[in-house]
Formats: sequence, structure tokens, C-alpha cells
Amino acid sequence: MDGNFTPEQQNYLQGFMAGVEARRGTLSPGGSSEGSAPPDAMRAAQDAAVAAGGKLNPEEKMKRERHPLDRWDEVEARAKAGKFPHGLENLATRWHGLFYVGPTQDSFMCRLRIPGGILPTHQARGIAAIAEECGGGYVDATTRNNLQIREIPANKGVELLERLADLGIIPKGTGADNIRNITASPTSGIDPHELIDTRSIVRKLHHHILNTRDLFGLPRKFNISIDGGSRVAVVEDTNDIAFTAVKVGDEVLFRLALGGITGHRDFARRTGRVVAPDDVVKVCDAILRVFLAHGDRTDRRKARLKYLLDSWGLPRFIEAVEAQLGAPLREVDGGETAPPADKHGHLGVHDQKQEGLQYVGVVLPVGRITAGEFRALARIADTYGSGTLRLTVWQNLLISDIPRDRMAEACRKIEAIGFGTTASHVRGGLVACTGAAGCKFAAAHTKQHAAALADYLDARIAVTRPINIHLTGCHNSCAQHYIGDIGLIGAKVERGEEEVEGYYLHVGGGTGLEQRIGRLILPKVAHDELGPPVLALLRAWQHEAPDLTFQAFT
Ligand code: SF4
Repeated sequence: MDGNFTPEQQNYLQGFMAGVEARRGTLSPGGSSEGSAPPDAMRAAQDAAVAAGGKLNPEEKMKRERHPLDRWDEVEARAKAGKFPHGLENLATRWHGLFYVGPTQDSFMCRLRIPGGILPTHQARGIAAIAEECGGGYVDATTRNNLQIREIPANKGVELLERLADLGIIPKGTGADNIRNITASPTSGIDPHELIDTRSIVRKLHHHILNTRDLFGLPRKFNISIDGGSRVAVVEDTNDIAFTAVKVGDEVLFRLALGGITGHRDFARRTGRVVAPDDVVKVCDAILRVFLAHGDRTDRRKARLKYLLDSWGLPRFIEAVEAQLGAPLREVDGGETAPPADKHGHLGVHDQKQEGLQYVGVVLPVGRITAGEFRALARIADTYGSGTLRLTVWQNLLISDIPRDRMAEACRKIEAIGFGTTASHVRGGLVACTGAAGCKFAAAHTKQHAAALADYLDARIAVTRPINIHLTGCHNSCAQHYIGDIGLIGAKVERGEEEVEGYYLHVGGGTGLEQRIGRLILPKVAHDELGPPVLALLRAWQHEAPDLTFQAFT
């Protein structure tokens, strides 16, 4: 590898080179969890934490003082006065899906809730209008099959939420200590590879969450993902609850894994249990209630599900979930999963399970779409498809249900907007979080640096196999740098007397069959010096290990 490296970087390089209606009803095949939750589960959990000698953290005290869902009058009053919330008020406002993101952008960001990423075009057009009239005129596709609207003035936040609700989009709980948008296979119902269409399950779970007040009282954020066996990966093993479709005999069930949080270097751990599709909602509810009752309310750094699992061990946690359910979870070892996901299956043209129909993946450079572009994509989906857009976890979208003989024309229309349907192997898996342009936690301008890195690499190497490059601005790891073939996390880098934006460079991360936490090989690389070492890595991989995955190579 060429390049000038500091002694610290050399050390790392040398090291590298060396080597989440359920509590009602009956759980099939038997059992009930009816009446098992206290009337106010959050307060009961807080009482228990205090009785055990703990001291509630300030966020828990805020939640106890007045439940954030009951603070809508405060949100309205501030909007009327043209003021943004600060400190714990800002945290509380996130229960309604609004985030004040100052000082980076002196504005609100709204994270929507689009279950499984399935977005009918009437909603897309409505979102575009709201983004123009209440926000910055664009939307950002996220890594949770979702969208964000940014640059929302203080006096527009409430109007935005009301107008989203008119469209049927309720962003409640998309921030703070709540259950985030449910991710699921974006090709559900159209994918020839899938074992099960997850759309109805996701819809039921989405509404269960929105309509169960107790579930807005968790100790910390919570992610749930359901993979039906799609050719488009959903990285479910990075979630607190991960369901993976598996065929056991003649049945399709979901393998259950728990506690994924790759920003803390941990994947969801296999439980050896499976869940029937009809039981997904009640099992999620039971898991959530155990977490709600026993998660840490004193130290937010240790409040995610992973830490409860670490502290209790899996057997004790499963026992508590089964007690909550009133029935044992089914134990199955093995089963047959769908064929592995296609690494860049979110791009290009693919046959659907419906004869004569295809879907196409649209490349959205680092996830951003102007309102005008979004309307144009909706028009194409209406004209050529069934009026359905499907958001993936790869910051792009699919347009489905296009007859094969109209696909070429649809692709030309997509290109006429300025988007591609194919991309180089460098750009096809390029994922970047919001970064310093819109997030106060960021140490670097991730989206800009991602685009610059792709320009640099594409000009110098034709990568022949799909790879994923993830750039994340801070340890919150919204872009999941630990699971990229190449993963970058923002850092301040000293350059002489000044500090510039840069990254810690990791390699060899992956999910699913390639599950592994990326390994740090180069610390503190200035953003404008990233190109040469990444290029050197790609050259070495391509030329020295053409038959190996990037992980095997590392
Ligand atoms: Fe902001 Fe950090 Fe998330 Fe990037 S990873 S969007 S910098 S919180």
C-alpha cells in the first residue's frame, strides 16, 4: 500500500496486514398474555429502578414529570411563538417526530414513519408538497426504509405534522426513546426469492405500536426489522429485534434474533427460537414489555436492549418473554432461509414473481431527492407501474409493477430526471448519514465526502464486484460504518496547527452471511486524503484476491 502515513497509522496498518393486540389474545398454539401489563408501565419501571437503589437519569425524570405524548400543547405553543425547543424539551418533542437540529441547521428535521418503506404515490406527492411548503424543498432517504424532511422553520413544525397526518403518515415515536420505523423487505409481495410477503405483518405491527401508549415509555430507542427472504438485504441482524424468514418443513416461520446494535459493535444474537407470522406482533409486544420493565433507567449509555441481554444472559431474558406471553416460544434449530440477498439488488431491473412484471432500483445519490424529482418519480410509478414507490435501507428506492415491454421507456424517463438505474460498484453501495451539513454530532461532512470519494475512485478503478462503503459522522453510526466492506467514522484530524475533518477507516464489515464487525485499519485520515488508501485497498482486493469476498480478503 502506498501513501505517507503517520507512525500511529502505520501501527494500525501493520496490525491489519498481519492478520422489537399482543398482550390480548392467544399465542398459537396456546397461551395468553392478557392483562399482564401494569396501567402505566413506564412509571412502574421507574419506581422499580428507584426502589432498587438507582437514581433516574434526567431524561427519565422529564418523561415522568409529564409524558412527552401529553406535551403537544407545549409543541403548539412554541410553534405559535416561533421558538425551537432546547435541551430536554427538544428530546420530548421527538416523541412527535420533530427534531430541532441546531446549531448545525437552525431548524427542525422530521423523520417520517413509512412501514416497510412501501409508499403509495399519493403520499409521495403530498410529502413533496409539504417539503416545499414547510421545509427545505427536498427529502432525504434514510437507512430505515424511510424519509426525512429538513429545514423546517419553528412556526411550521406543527403544520407539517398536521399535514402529514392528513396523508396518513404519523411520525410519532420516530425519535428519542421509541420504536423507530419498521424496516422490512422492500420487494415484499413481488420478489421471486421471498419466502413470505411481510407487508400485512409490518402494517399490523406498525399500527400496534402507534396505538399502544405503553410502548412510548421505553428506556431507549428500539429497532425492529423483518426480512421475508428478499433479494434486497434489510440488514435485520443490526436491529434490536430481527426476524428472518426460514422454512421449517412446510411452514414459513421467522427466526428470532435479539439485541443488534452495530454502533456498539454487536449483532442481534440468535435465540434458537422461531415465531409464526401470526404471532409476530404479540411476541414483539412481549419483548418490548420486558425491555420496558427491566431496561436501564439510570444510565442512558447502557439503556439499549443489548445491555439488558448482556446483564441477564439470553436464557433469563427468553424466560421473562415467555412469562409475559404466557406460553413458550418454539425452539427450532436450523431451517432453510431464502437464497442470499443480492448485494446491489436494490439497483437495476429485476423480474417480479408476477409474470411479465419487473421492478427497477433508482440510484439516489447519497439519498437526497428534491420535491420536483420526487413528484417526477411518482409520475413514472403512476404511468408505468402500479403507483407504488418502495424505499430500501440503502438510501434509494424501487418502482415496482412495470410491464417488461415498458421498462426501457420507464428507465429513460428516470434518466431524464437525472437519476440512474445502475451505478458503479463503488456508488451502488455508497451510504452516508446526514453529516455535518445537518447534524450537530457530526465530525465530518459525510455526504459530500462520500460523493468526492466515489468520484476519486470511479476515475481510477473499475471495481468488478459489488462493495458497500458506509460513511457515518459520529459514534451514533446512523450509516452503520461497522457493517461496510469499507466503513468510515468521522473524526477531527490534526494537520499542522489546524484541525480538519477526517475519518477512521475500517474494513471487512458485513451482515447476514457476511456478518462481521469491520476492523479499524487506519485512524484519522483527513477527508481529502481518503482516496489513495481506499484505492490501494480496492486494488489489492481486486488483483490479489479476485475470488474472495472483501471480508475473506481482509
Ligand atoms: Fe448525526 Fe452521528 Fe447520525 Fe451522522 S451518525 S446523522 S453525525 S447522529
